[in-house]
Amino acid sequence: AHLFGTLDAPEPDEILRSNQAFAADPRAHKVNLGIGMYYDANGRVPLMRAVSEAQRRIVDGGVPWPYGPALGSETLRAHLAALVFGEGTPVPVSAQTLGGTGALGMGATLLAEAIGPDAVVALSTPSWPNHAPIFARAGFTIRGYRYLDDAGTAFDREGMLADLAALPRGSVVVLHAGCHNPTGVDPAPEDWPAIVEILRAHGLIAFVDAAYLGFGAGWSQDCAPIRLVRDSGVAMLFSLSCSKSFSLYGERTGCLMIPHQDDAAARGIAAHAAAYARTQYSIPPGHGARIVEIILGDEALRADWLAELETMRGRIIDLRHALVSTLAAEGMGDRMGHLGRQHGLFSQSGLTRAQVARLAAEHAIHAIPDGRICIAALNEGNLGHVARATAEVCR
Ligand code: PLP
Repeated sequence: AHLFGTLDAPEPDEILRSNQAFAADPRAHKVNLGIGMYYDANGRVPLMRAVSEAQRRIVDGGVPWPYGPALGSETLRAHLAALVFGEGTPVPVSAQTLGGTGALGMGATLLAEAIGPDAVVALSTPSWPNHAPIFARAGFTIRGYRYLDDAGTAFDREGMLADLAALPRGSVVVLHAGCHNPTGVDPAPEDWPAIVEILRAHGLIAFVDAAYLGFGAGWSQDCAPIRLVRDSGVAMLFSLSCSKSFSLYGERTGCLMIPHQDDAAARGIAAHAAAYARTQYSIPPGHGARIVEIILGDEALRADWLAELETMRGRIIDLRHALVSTLAAEGMGDRMGHLGRQHGLFSQSGLTRAQVARLAAEHAIHAIPDGRICIAALNEGNLGHVARATAEVCR
């Protein structure tokens, strides 16, 4: 047996498998609805104008790349805190991380070290497939809370509140800030105060995960639930991914923020976070951070970035409505109306595993087996094909 032969190889998750199946599909008209990125009307990941300009300034400036601090750029962290929590609010203890994933991993590890072997985390059922492995690797016991109604396409407020209320005190609750992955189903603004009240009353710790800011109802509206949790005084960690909002996936730019700490606690947390970074990757990558820092530090660039993000958000909403009306025209009535009411890149289509399998086998359309589709992968060239095929497998 070879050295690592005793290790069980984990199965690739369903998202990776769907992407592998798409890559291996030889049919020219194939469509990949399994992706987790924003694609533009030409089916490409955009290089945002402000990002392109920031990159130009970096190159023209002849900027060198020395080692930086283990917690990354302080300027970046201050800009991101202002962007999410508002100008002039104190910057929480924070760390620049390797994307949102890195923020989750660092936060989970610090929490597990602080809580000890009884650490429990509750995830929405379903959640982003990486949440459970990240927390399990840090040492957490994983629990689920109800999130979707029986049809699987709308929010189950009573189910979620009841399941949160039944958690042991001190449990960590992962909350998607909005544009829930994989479902696109979010609590309504009026549901959030009730969620926050349960967290407070039951001594739960909120871990708010934001990977799609700007893609829901608009930047400031998308930040409202995050501010609500922060303002409630509930113990809170906040992970922020710049991957989608800046179209910077490969740069690995993100941030972990932990509000409500007095100076002594903040120093302790910062020291732990820096120690974690030192042993994992030493320092976070500089290039994406510098790009975001330049954009947010320049009023005109920041305005242009937000305007382009708004255009991307608007395009997704238009695609949702085009898909719903094309499906209706294909004879599905309002059966897919929920796609128009969900938010962000993804939707829980409500398609069964068998229907998703038929889409792939018969129509070269690859979605996630649980029915998740990426709305941003649609465009003028493929929407008709997707709608016709969807109506056919639903007949
Ligand atoms: N959290 C959620 C809910 C996500 O959907 C994603 C990415 O898909 C992430 C975190 C991680 O983002 P990043 O690519 O910045 O690590």
